[in-house]
Amino acid sequence: LAKIYTDQDASLDPIKDKKIAVLGYGNQGRAWALNLRDSGLNVIVGLEREGNSWKQAVQDGFQPVHTEDAVKQADIIIFLIPDMVQRYVYREKVQPNMKEGADLVFAHGFNIHYKLIDPPSTSDVYMVAPKGPGATVRDFYTKGGGVPALVAVQQNPSGKAMEKALAIAKGIGATRAGVIETTFKEETETDLFGEQTTLVGGVMELMRSAFRTLVELGYQPEVAYFETINEMKMIVDIIYEKGFTGMLKAVSDTAKYGGLTVGKFVINEEVRKRMLEAAEKIRSGKFAEEWIEEYNRGSPTIKEGLEEIENSLEEQTRRRLKEIIERGKPKS
Ligand code: NDP
Ligand code: MG
Ligand code: MG
Repeated sequence: LAKIYTDQDASLDPIKDKKIAVLGYGNQGRAWALNLRDSGLNVIVGLEREGNSWKQAVQDGFQPVHTEDAVKQADIIIFLIPDMVQRYVYREKVQPNMKEGADLVFAHGFNIHYKLIDPPSTSDVYMVAPKGPGATVRDFYTKGGGVPALVAVQQNPSGKAMEKALAIAKGIGATRAGVIETTFKEETETDLFGEQTTLVGGVMELMRSAFRTLVELGYQPEVAYFETINEMKMIVDIIYEKGFTGMLKAVSDTAKYGGLTVGKFVINEEVRKRMLEAAEKIRSGKFAEEWIEEYNRGSPTIKEGLEEIENSLEEQTRRRLKEIIERGKPKS
């Protein structure tokens, strides 16, 4: 069984007198910097350039500094910049400026697991990986809750890496929910698998395929949109609150019977074979290699994909239905 830690298992003590450099002020960076500060910790925001993040950090009451200046003062250095950027910033700004023995902390294991960053043996290297978007990490925290996270230790010369990982997890609110102990390998591989096959890729393509099937059969796109895309949130909300059992209780018997039989017919062995293939590609490092190459070519596939989706009939239909969706949202 997984080892789970909650608030009572974690103390801020091991990091309360340390200077914590949060590198990056985007999705996770902003949430972490704000939550850690509100938890009474000593945070400095380090950024590469005086762009949008810089302005936002100033608006939030931070005095951001350039990466190298944050790193020079820091006892704990947290990487919250894009995965593909981390190794360059590490090589050029972090490694040459860090105090000996400063901690290196990650929110995702990619750069360590695939050996893109090779940390000094004198540093503790650990991870706190929230299992939710940055905006939610902040929102739950301010409302007294917390997004669950995974914690892992890769290097532990001080012998205190896990205590510090738990302290960071407490500082961002994650232990209010609970954190699960894992390894960099398990977090990296499962995170990539989840986003590819389910959370980002799988769910989106499932909804799009269903939408397009209905439209090709001559049904109105607006009707198809409500049925195969918009209603997903309501169903997922029930799964989140009450599990699959609760969801199945909330739908009609007709939907239960159809769902239990046709679901398995559509998402069949063939699909699961492909999931295994996706997992293999992650585990072998082939996906990482491919992504690094894509990034180095200026991410043409991302650009093309985003453009295709933005212009798709699904998104056009959503734009037409936007007012209905907005008007219907709960008012309090
Ligand atoms: P973001 O894409 O939101 O990071 C944006 C930040 O990085 C901004 O401060 C931006 O500065 C800076 N930045 C962007 N490009 C560069 C660059 N080329 N050089 C220097 N700085 C740059 O990152 P995320 O928060 O999405 O991800 C951060 C880490 O958290 C990753 O390891 C990710 O895997 C992990 N993670 C992310 C989750 C999420 O919800 N997004 C969930 C769990 C983990 P500027 O404004 O100046 O461009
Ligand atoms: Mg994830
Ligand atoms: Mg991820």
